[in-house]
Amino acid sequence: MKVPFYDAWESASERQRRRLIKERLSAYLRQARRLPFYADRLARFRPGCEHPLAEVPVLTPDASRALLPPRSRRLLARGAAGWTVFQSGGTTGAPKTSLFSHEEMEALCLPNARGYHAVGLRRGDRVANLFAAGGLYMSFLHVHRALEAFGCVNFPFSNHAAPESVRNCARLFGINCLTGVASVALNCLREMEKLDLRGVRIEKFFYSAEHLYDADKTELRERFGVRRVATHGYGTVDTWYLGYQCAACPTGVFHAHDDQVFLEVWDEDGRRPCSPGQAGMLYATVWSRRLTPLVRYRVGDRARWLGARCSCGRTTPLFELLGRGDDVLRIGFDSIDYRYVQDCVGRVRGLLGSVQMQKERETGRDRLVVRAETRAPAPARRALAAALSRELLSRRPTLRDGVEQKAVWPVRVELLDQGGLPRNPRTGKLIRVKDDR
Ligand SMILES: [Zn+2]
Repeated sequence: MKVPFYDAWESASERQRRRLIKERLSAYLRQARRLPFYADRLARFRPGCEHPLAEVPVLTPDASRALLPPRSRRLLARGAAGWTVFQSGGTTGAPKTSLFSHEEMEALCLPNARGYHAVGLRRGDRVANLFAAGGLYMSFLHVHRALEAFGCVNFPFSNHAAPESVRNCARLFGINCLTGVASVALNCLREMEKLDLRGVRIEKFFYSAEHLYDADKTELRERFGVRRVATHGYGTVDTWYLGYQCAACPTGVFHAHDDQVFLEVWDEDGRRPCSPGQAGMLYATVWSRRLTPLVRYRVGDRARWLGARCSCGRTTPLFELLGRGDDVLRIGFDSIDYRYVQDCVGRVRGLLGSVQMQKERETGRDRLVVRAETRAPAPARRALAAALSRELLSRRPTLRDGVEQKAVWPVRVELLDQGGLPRNPRTGKLIRVKDDR
């Protein structure tokens, strides 16, 4: 029997969809216009048009930060009192601050539940929550609440838990699902394996906040016997959940939460809306954020609409996430996308999915450095490094030509032991891109 969707919105008709989106957008902008900051900016909202926000200025993360406490209250709804302060980032530059009202925190249960249901979570599953807790991080808190509401048996470990305690509890209580930041949850499982996984059976692995690449997924399936690996939600702390996967979604593809957020994809300069298939920058108008209304917020991620229906039957539209706009290194005349490097690593058998790329500059020339982790013994590593070098160059003529013409230095590949790449000490997230400039 086909498992029903979590809620009726997921199979709403095009007509229902259009009507509700139009209503919500208009109502939200009416509310936002009460703030002096938005009054002028929203004057050119065209509710009847295909791109109703086309003439509304884009709100950048920097601009929004300057409008929020502690610097200003200009983006705060009138009469706002209590809220929770979250921060993220902070490894480079100022951390991003986001304020959520208590109602907003509670409202995250819906996109959480929709996403978790779509990837295969069921009531009664025994779930280890490995998301980041403390330090003004947000994910652990709302995932905890959502798992309670969903009806799971809940193990609030956080990202700080010792793998040994997770392993022991998994044995005692039959934990069958891990959820967390992809690299943190995967590393936890790898450490549990070192301790001995007998009596432990992890069937489901639901991650977010990072991509999990095919090499990692293969490892989860083949080495650990995990049956379901997917992202229950893609979102950012400065916006909301924007999308979720279903069992049919390949890596990087999401259904939009188009009843929660009005999503747009525009070209890099913000001049033209992208048609399906065309990559551009993602803008979000987040209806669920009432405390600090966000209209045309530049998310910072690149994406494209797929324009096709998903085989799962959901009518929520599909988009593909193409990585952070800042996950790109300019090497000579080429722009190397982190995802490209990840894909190359995934094609070399023997390398794990964790990768870092770095730009170095020596005597006026750029060099791409790629670091990857492996369990292979030292004598086998030279061949693996050479294979990865070949992969990186052969699939990218612009880079290969740059090296051949000596415009850039040859690529350097460094292989490290599992867990050897640097990670953010607070969240455990991999530091994926480094730029020496
Ligand atoms: Zn689907």
